[in-house]
Amino acid sequence: MSRKRILIVEDEPSLVFTLRDTLENEGYEVAIVESGNDAIAKVPEFQPDLMLLDIMLPGMSGFEVCKKVREMKLNFPIIMLTARDQEIDKVTGLNIGADDYMTKPFGVKELLARIQARLRRVNTYSKPGPIDVVNLGEVRVQLNESKVVRPDKEIELTTREVELIRFLVANSNEPVSRDTLLEHVWRYEYSTNTRTVDVHISKLRSKIEMHPDDPRYLVTLHGVGYMMKMP
Ligand code: CA
Repeated sequence: MSRKRILIVEDEPSLVFTLRDTLENEGYEVAIVESGNDAIAKVPEFQPDLMLLDIMLPGMSGFEVCKKVREMKLNFPIIMLTARDQEIDKVTGLNIGADDYMTKPFGVKELLARIQARLRRVNTYSKPGPIDVVNLGEVRVQLNESKVVRPDKEIELTTREVELIRFLVANSNEPVSRDTLLEHVWRYEYSTNTRTVDVHISKLRSKIEMHPDDPRYLVTLHGVGYMMKMP
């Protein structure tokens, strides 16, 4: 089993020392950079499995780093670290694609638990791949063109619907909970909840299913969530 790589982006020497020590003791391979620009430069070379990202950095802020990483279409988990205990930071961080958030000072044990949880989730759920077309019986979903071609009509898909289909197809024939969809498709955006998921699924069903009331592919698993049934 190869060691998981963690990139620490932090400019506070004492915290860097503790983090490096703790993570290396746990068997992680660790790299450290002290600014946002260095972080962006280091990512392609080090290929981290996870990033610990301070918000208050010299030059580019942690928020900007996070945004840039996601713009590079890199999906490894990012846990943001900040000294400021402000809800606004949390919301901003999660909106721009961070996965978790820790307020300094934090306990090392809690940090390790969060890191492990994040890395486990990455292994558990398949990342949506670059699929262009999904055939669901007589319905053809063209993800690359954000549209559904049916015998009776063509329908546009929203960006969110495309993401939702990609995730469900990548995990087809497996139950996917509403919380998982919130986490992976909505990334816990502000003011979303499981009802948001239900509304989108229902809308999506009316587009991709010929008989949305009796779906063949995007089925509900009562008490569990949803599943994309694929041949
Ligand atoms: Ca700092």
